[in-house]
Amino acid sequence: MTTVSIGRRAVCANLLAAAISLIFQPLQAQTPAGATVALTGARLIDGTGAAAVENATIVIASGRIVAAGPSASVTVPAGATRISMAGKTILPGLINTHGHVTVDDNTKLPMREHMLQVLKAYADYGVTAVVSLGSSTLADEAEGFRIREEQRNGIIDRTRLITAGMNAIGKTPEEARASVARLASVKADLIKYHINGRPDDMTPDIYGALVDEAKKRNLMTAVHIFYLKDAKLAIEKGTNHIVHSVRDQDVDQELIAAMKRNNVAYVPTLTRDLSVFVYETEPAFWQEAFFKKGMYRYQTEVDILKDPKLQMETRNSAAAQSIKKALQQANRNLKILSDAGVLIGMGTDTSSPNDLGRWPGYFEHVELEMMVQAGLTPMQALKAATGDAARIMKLDQLGTIAPGKAADLLVLNANPLTNIRNTREIDSVWIAGKKL
Ligand SMILES: [Zn+2]
Repeated sequence: MTTVSIGRRAVCANLLAAAISLIFQPLQAQTPAGATVALTGARLIDGTGAAAVENATIVIASGRIVAAGPSASVTVPAGATRISMAGKTILPGLINTHGHVTVDDNTKLPMREHMLQVLKAYADYGVTAVVSLGSSTLADEAEGFRIREEQRNGIIDRTRLITAGMNAIGKTPEEARASVARLASVKADLIKYHINGRPDDMTPDIYGALVDEAKKRNLMTAVHIFYLKDAKLAIEKGTNHIVHSVRDQDVDQELIAAMKRNNVAYVPTLTRDLSVFVYETEPAFWQEAFFKKGMYRYQTEVDILKDPKLQMETRNSAAAQSIKKALQQANRNLKILSDAGVLIGMGTDTSSPNDLGRWPGYFEHVELEMMVQAGLTPMQALKAATGDAARIMKLDQLGTIAPGKAADLLVLNANPLTNIRNTREIDSVWIAGKKL
């Protein structure tokens, strides 16, 4: 062996390296089921609204959280892979309780590719679950259910999709019941319907039947409203969630009492209203690096919204301009309802079919910022986007960092409790214990 040439040694070394990489590469490429990972030294915001824990450790195995808490009180199992998260903040992945994952006329991609790209955008921005409240067609409804099943069967490299399918509708109580029955038969996760405040709305006896049919089938209902009177009527009929802001006047004690009595949640979607008028000029946020990283999804809509003619139309649109005032009202009502102890869920209406400029991923961070500008604390806004969002949508496995929960995590390089804009300082996103 003393005569081994340099060349031979090089070959041996290469063989050895190849053998080592054969052994270890699969382990690095995908954490095998059962492999245990300990994230150490982070600030932990667990999603329940409890005070942050400094120097926390989170233990993950098989896609779930095994333990989480102060490092001094969490035992890291022997053989676990330790990853230092010193200086970082870990919170549950964000949950959007009102988004959309549907076909869209403004995309250049085929339907399924478009829907998967929307889910990728959500994931890249740390939104690890989205409740899609309204498909566009029976085809994208079916694709949504297919994508949801794929995720349930172990595909975990994209945002979790929960979907209502098409909106429930009907011209008679019987038709409304049949619409809910169809959605139940295709396994919709919940039921969404609209009261627009227009003469062609379903009447209260029709949507009352709709809600009743959903209850019989153990499905939650979410309603699109604008007016206080419609929110009250919907709750009177048993609707579970109000998924846009009340924007015509201050909410009153009657509404607050009804919401609390019936445990009705409120999803403000402030960015939805922002999107109606903000493209009257080119918004400054288009220049933000954090926005630009989503251009693979946003570019086609940015190009459309850059059109000076479209911007002028928005400036001259009485309907669009009136939403500026409606948004101020929405801000007021969010603060009133939050102070009153009504359950708030973060939602955005992002990727609403054929509505331009509702950016999946980016707008969830703007929504959090706007919620804080409306008067919520950063902790209240984050709770609405994690623990409370999961509670509202009955996503028992998601939304908090606690033993047994899915390891869906958002790791930040800065503390969002001192500045909510720090949710944009993303270090990494984890879904089911896997770093994307
Ligand atoms: Zn919507």
